[in-house]
Amino acid sequence: MELIIASGAQWGDEGKGKVSYYLSQFSDVCMRAGGGSNAEATFYHQGKGYHFQMIPSGVVRGKVGIMADGVLISCDRLMLESRQLEEEFGDISDRFMVSGNAHVVLPSHREKDAFLDENVLKINTIRQGIGPAMADRAYRVGVNVDTFIRTGGEPEGQDEHWEDRAQYVEMLRKYRKDTKRYLAELKKTDKTVLIQGSQAFMLDNVHGTYPYVTSSYTSTAGLLHGAGFPYSSLTRNIGIVKAYPIRFDRTGPLPTECSESDQEVIRNAGNEFSHTSHTPLRIGWLDMVALRYAQEINHYTEFFFTKIDVLSELKEIPVCIGYRHRGETIDTCYEWSHMDVSEYEPVYKVLKGWQRPIRGVQDFMALPVEARDYVKFLEDQIGVPVTLIGTGPKDDEVIVR
Ligand code: GDP
Repeated sequence: MELIIASGAQWGDEGKGKVSYYLSQFSDVCMRAGGGSNAEATFYHQGKGYHFQMIPSGVVRGKVGIMADGVLISCDRLMLESRQLEEEFGDISDRFMVSGNAHVVLPSHREKDAFLDENVLKINTIRQGIGPAMADRAYRVGVNVDTFIRTGGEPEGQDEHWEDRAQYVEMLRKYRKDTKRYLAELKKTDKTVLIQGSQAFMLDNVHGTYPYVTSSYTSTAGLLHGAGFPYSSLTRNIGIVKAYPIRFDRTGPLPTECSESDQEVIRNAGNEFSHTSHTPLRIGWLDMVALRYAQEINHYTEFFFTKIDVLSELKEIPVCIGYRHRGETIDTCYEWSHMDVSEYEPVYKVLKGWQRPIRGVQDFMALPVEARDYVKFLEDQIGVPVTLIGTGPKDDEVIVR
C-alpha cells in the first residue's frame, strides 16, 4: 500500500480542498483522519464547485471515502453532503464509510463552544462544537458512532434537544463500517491511500501557537494516529504551503502579518474571506521561520505550493527569512506556545514580483522568471522540493514538476 498525506503546513486555508481533490485522481481511497466540520474544503469537479466540511473530496470522483477513528462527525453537515452526493451520483454507501469509533458532535457541544468562545477563550472559534466534543472524548464521556446508533441517538447522561436524531441514526447506520479491518486488508494490497489533512500544522493542539490552536492534532504524526497507520507506512508526506499565510482568528500570532493596505490587495485578489461568516482573513508574508519549524516536526517529503497566482500584481514580495529576537537574529523558532509576537520582528528579503497574470499556467518554464525564483527560494530555504504548484482554484490549474 502507498500512503500519501497532504496537510497544511501553515495556519490553514492553504487550499487543501483543491489539493486533495487533485491528488485523489492518483488514489484509490481518500480519508479524513482528524478534526471535524471545522475543516472547509473548496474544489471544482467537472466545472462544478463543491464546498465540503466532512466528506473527503475524492468521493466526488468515485473513490472510496473513509472517516477514520480520529474524526468528529457533525451529523447535520454529513447529512447535507451525503444527500448532495447521492442525488448526483446515486448510492455511495458501498464506497463511503464511517468508523464506529469516530465521535459524534452533539448539540450541547455547539452550545458550549459558543459560550466558551464568547466568554472565556475569545479566539474566534468556528463554533462547530469541535473543541467540547474533543474534550468530552478526552474526559471519556464522549459518544462514538456505535453508541449513538445503539442508543437511538439518545446516549445516557445526555440531555439533548435534537429533533433530527432518528434521521442521523439511520444515516450513520448506513455508512458505519469496520474501517480498521478494511484498512488492515488494504495494507496488503498495492492500493494508494490519501489522507486529507484538516486545519494546519501551526494550529496543532500540542505543537502550534497554543492557545490559538484547534483542539486536535494536525501534524503528520497526529494524522497517522487518527487514521491508525504506523509512521513506516508513509510514502509521500506533502506539506501544503500557500504563497502567503493567513489566519482565520483575530488575535493569534502571525509574525509576518502585513500592512492593512497590502492585506487588502492580496485579500481581494485571493478572495481571502471566511466562507461561513465572510469576515476578512488576516494575511502575512511567506514565513520561512515558521516553515522551518513545520519541517522540523513533520519532515515533509515535498511541498504543494498554492495560490502563487494571487501575488501576480505585486511589484515586490517580501519573504521572512529570520526573526530579530532579544538582540539576536534567529532563523528557526521553537517556542510558539503563548508566543508574544511583539518580541519577534521579522527580517525580510525582498524578492521581485512578476507583475503579469499567471492564472492557469501548467508549465513551470512558462512562469515568469521572478515567479520561478519565488518557488526556488522556498525550496532553497527549507530544503524541500516543490513538486506541485497551484496557479488557480480549478483542478487543472496546476504545475507538475
Ligand atoms: P482549506 O481551508 O485549506 O481547505 O482551503 P480551501 O480548500 O477552502 O481553499 C481556499 C480557497 O482557495 C478556495 O476558494 C479554493 O478554490 C482556492 N484555491 C486553492 N488553490 C488555489 C490556487 O492555487 N490558486 C487560487 N487562486 N485559488 C486557489
